[in-house]
Amino acid sequence: MRLEFTSTNGQSPSVNLREALLAGQAPDRGLYFLKHFPRLNPEAIAEFPALPYHEIAFRVLSQYTDGIVEPATLAAMCRDAYDFVVPLEKVYDRVHIMRLDQGPTASFKDFAARMMARLMGRFLQEENRQLTIVTATSGDTGAAVAHAFHNIPGFQVVVLFPQDEISQSQRKLMTVLKGNVRTVAIDGKFDDCQAMVKKAFADPTLKHLPLSSANSINIGRLLPQSVYYFYAASRLAKPGEDMVFSVPSGNFGDMMGAMVAKQMGLPVRKIIVPVNDNDAFPRFLATGVYEKVVPSRNSVSNAMNVGHPSNLARLVSLYDGQMDETGKIKRLPNLEAMRRDLFSSSISDDRTRETIRDVWTKYELLLEAHGAVAWAGFQDCLAVEPLNGLPTAILETANPAKFPEEIERTIGFSPDVPPAMEAMNKLPEDYDRMGADYEIFREYLLGRH
Ligand SMILES: *Cc1c(COP(=O)(O)O)cnc(C)c1O
Repeated sequence: MRLEFTSTNGQSPSVNLREALLAGQAPDRGLYFLKHFPRLNPEAIAEFPALPYHEIAFRVLSQYTDGIVEPATLAAMCRDAYDFVVPLEKVYDRVHIMRLDQGPTASFKDFAARMMARLMGRFLQEENRQLTIVTATSGDTGAAVAHAFHNIPGFQVVVLFPQDEISQSQRKLMTVLKGNVRTVAIDGKFDDCQAMVKKAFADPTLKHLPLSSANSINIGRLLPQSVYYFYAASRLAKPGEDMVFSVPSGNFGDMMGAMVAKQMGLPVRKIIVPVNDNDAFPRFLATGVYEKVVPSRNSVSNAMNVGHPSNLARLVSLYDGQMDETGKIKRLPNLEAMRRDLFSSSISDDRTRETIRDVWTKYELLLEAHGAVAWAGFQDCLAVEPLNGLPTAILETANPAKFPEEIERTIGFSPDVPPAMEAMNKLPEDYDRMGADYEIFREYLLGRH
């Protein structure tokens, strides 16, 4: 079967996985997504409990790569990309924390970035092409992308970060890389970095450069994020039993991984999508009226400071609605069905910190702010729907060691640093510096080609 990726805006021709991955965004500015998902039958899913993570990844992702990537090649990519553990820690009864923070940059973004880099690298090699990934980061994305594409033939990587807005450990995760990765500290804010990157993509005088963004709207970032939901169910649920997931959400890419798993046949009762003060989605779910949060609100769970989640267009399309790239609803989705499958609440910073403290005191379980939002959202859901003791995975999306100052302020000690991060902390940093000036950045890109 040939899988067709169509644009959520409905105005671009459909493409295959390779084309969708290399293009990122559709020409009509919509997001590539599937109308019909490949399905895994219950017998296929029943085999997962006996399989390691990378083999489950292969069985899920091979549903999308038929005729595009050789099975043996994909299997090798999965082994190579997923060579770290995915701990599921029991907290009480059937409630578990799934730690997605054991990759090289200690956030869940490693799962997607590592697979995407391997797939894109393969496609480039086949076409004998070169690509420069240019990305702006407020922290986690840049590090995950830089590590994922580090030393993959065919790629140059340029990461822009705001000099004074990221933590020292976040910075070191990018600036110690050599080879094909260059990091640039911008004397400005994250918004300046993002504006410079956007300008470069739209600049006709750079049209001859092979630039790509690898940003969060790429379908190649989304599909690999469905795998850990299958994995959690394989370890926590009985065959055919419904799962509950709580996913701390910003751009809604992570939660869309759960939606994809559900579409593919994984039994899921509820997907809980807590947000921080950026509460556009819970308000929409309650009222049917969508209003972006402009400008986005700052909060302690800073990787989720998103006023208009870009993946909402995909979520809305799954429920027979249509939302354009500006957040305008063209056709209302089936809200009743959405409310049946999803629960969402907004968690304030005070509550986030209180949750970190409570969970530590009660269970000796250390969460950082993003995981704490997921925990609090799960409690909110329980208050209105008992969920009958179903197996539950609450996602911890970053390692507490990435935010030592915040953790120290909240519970009075700093978290242990994982060995991989410790080793990197010792390497010498090397990065360029630049004012927030597009002309200088333009010359910089030209000089590197
Ligand atoms: C990016 C990020 C999120 C939010 O994920 P989305 O896919 O944007 O919803 C949550 N936690 C951490 C630590 C992140 O880096």
